[in-house]
Amino acid sequence: MKKIILLALSVMIFASANSFAGGIDTLKKNGYTLIVSGNDENFDKELTQKLINTFFIVYPKLSKEYNKNTDKVVTFFIDTAYHGVAATGDGKVVFSAEYMTKHKTDIDVVTHEVMHIVQGYGETNGPWWVTEGIADYARYKFGIANAAGNWTLPEYKATQKYDNSYRITARFLAWIEAKVKKGTVKKLDDVMRRHAYNDNTWKDITGYSVEDLWKKYSENPAI
Ligand SMILES: [Zn+2]
Repeated sequence: MKKIILLALSVMIFASANSFAGGIDTLKKNGYTLIVSGNDENFDKELTQKLINTFFIVYPKLSKEYNKNTDKVVTFFIDTAYHGVAATGDGKVVFSAEYMTKHKTDIDVVTHEVMHIVQGYGETNGPWWVTEGIADYARYKFGIANAAGNWTLPEYKATQKYDNSYRITARFLAWIEAKVKKGTVKKLDDVMRRHAYNDNTWKDITGYSVEDLWKKYSENPAI
């Protein structure tokens, strides 16, 4: 615990020495480089600092858990012209300046997005709902401020389906990890990265088809 606090402090001290000032900041720590820039002069500096700090806390952990060969250099761009939440491709995360300004506590958007870099599936043959479900599962497991951001996994409802993606799939994955087979997400992530997803993937990993897993989940969805 003490070690974690010290680590978080050192990240903050390190990062604050290079505060984002409207230009391009290049931050380095423990073998990882984060290049930060944006086009919003008025973007909250403290918030930029939080995005940076979150990156240096979660990215090494995600890399260690899922993919040690992930990109060592990541780019953040805070964009006034992007009106979604955030989007990631080719080692670059584009954050909506508008969304982040309106949702300053939703800091683990970083965790979800940089998980996409760690996933690095490229043109995978696997379904997109698995990709997004795993990214939200990673946010659930490794996020540093989910509660403060009012971000939780939604309770099971009968109208849901495993391929609803994002948090619904993430909760299903959390249930599989807790009740059926620990390590499923790591295996699924690996299959997706190797472009080896097929109709038997869920059965190969857990012993059950995805339909059977969902049926069991719907009958007793506690996690
Ligand atoms: Zn995503």
